Amino acid sequence: MQSITILGATGSIGVSTLDVVARHPERYTVYALTAHSRVEELAAQCAQFRPVRAVVGTAAAAAQLDALLRAKGLRTEVEWGEQALCDVASAAAVDSVMAAIVGAAGLAPTLAAARAGKKVLLANKEALVMSGQLFMDAVQDSGAVLLPIDSEHNAIFQCLPQGYGRVPAAAGVSKILLTASGGPFLKRAVETLDSVTPDEACKHPKWVMGRKISVDSATMMNKGLEVIEAHWLFGAPADQIEVVIHPQSVIHSMVSYNDGSVLAELGNPDMRTPIAHALAYPERIASGVAQLDLTRIGTLQFEKPDFQRFPCLALAFDALRAGGTAPTLLNAANEVAVQAFLEQRIGFRQIDRVIARVMDELSHGAVSSIEALMAQDAAARAAAETLIGAQAK
Ligand code: NAD
Ligand code: MG
Repeated sequence: MQSITILGATGSIGVSTLDVVARHPERYTVYALTAHSRVEELAAQCAQFRPVRAVVGTAAAAAQLDALLRAKGLRTEVEWGEQALCDVASAAAVDSVMAAIVGAAGLAPTLAAARAGKKVLLANKEALVMSGQLFMDAVQDSGAVLLPIDSEHNAIFQCLPQGYGRVPAAAGVSKILLTASGGPFLKRAVETLDSVTPDEACKHPKWVMGRKISVDSATMMNKGLEVIEAHWLFGAPADQIEVVIHPQSVIHSMVSYNDGSVLAELGNPDMRTPIAHALAYPERIASGVAQLDLTRIGTLQFEKPDFQRFPCLALAFDALRAGGTAPTLLNAANEVAVQAFLEQRIGFRQIDRVIARVMDELSHGAVSSIEALMAQDAAARAAAETLIGAQAK
């Protein structure tokens, strides 16, 4: 029996994880579930999965959840706040932690799981992008097992040899080919991008996801964050990571070897595949995803990304090349700009402009400690908010 904590249980990844877990009651028990504010959904999940502990964002949400659970006669212990998230991610009773909180809010508990030597199922790419070396050091020092949930990185992981030591040359790897659907605006006239609405940006052609990552997919910042994520997970420098647009999203990514071989992982675009892969690794379990029928798909297409259309992708490559805390600034500015776009305080094309200005204005340094990172994160957020405030006037 594997005991699991799911951070961000009410989100898109959290719900898909519980879907897979529910298919294998003989393998998995749920130790803790967390959510920020969707208390009723969390209460329903608690009734179904009977976790020992549940964590929410505020005291008020905790009181509400507590009342709902008592009314159902459940004994799940209710807690709230960041320390509680870290506690349920690192508790001795936990084997695996699904890190599926969105954004920087997930860093502390994900890092707590890594430091405690857990099997960390990483969906929360922002946590790795902002903390980079510190996060990888924590994994190394504790002996944690880090398994990527992001479909591209999970695919790459599957295409690399067992025991891959994060040195591409040592494994004969010449390139990592990160596929991207191109999002909803791949073919839309660039001049019209400034007038797109949050709902249009969130209408992804292939994946159903949370709103933040959906906007990131529309700007292709999602792919940019994934380039940085791939750098940390697989030890490849920026020049060895190539983004390939592949609108069908059937190939989830590829690894190119120096003998000319290219290995790919294919499947229907459904996050339950990488989730099931990581949950059961190194075994295989059913995920509920239909088998891929290539003859029905017929054609697979590929093209180069247009960095002019998607400046966020270029900004992410720049941040990776700059190194240090540059990715921390990039991530923080992006989170603020995306939120402002979702709240209709700025237009779509202002997202990349805000990020570029923040990257220009703030100096980045070496990654020394989590405290230093959080200070950079806060400075970038403040700078982004100031720019957005000025633009809104
Ligand atoms: P979502 O918005 O659907 O869910 C986010 C979850 O995080 C919710 O449970 C929410 O309660 C929780 N949360 C939000 N803010 C919080 C806060 N301040 N403190 C604590 N908890 C908070 O997002 P999602 O689409 O499930 O994405 C989750 C993560 O997985 C993101 O980092 C995303 O980039 C990554 N990811 C998602 C997909 C996908 O298909 N959805 C694919 C690859 C990677
Ligand atoms: Mg992805």
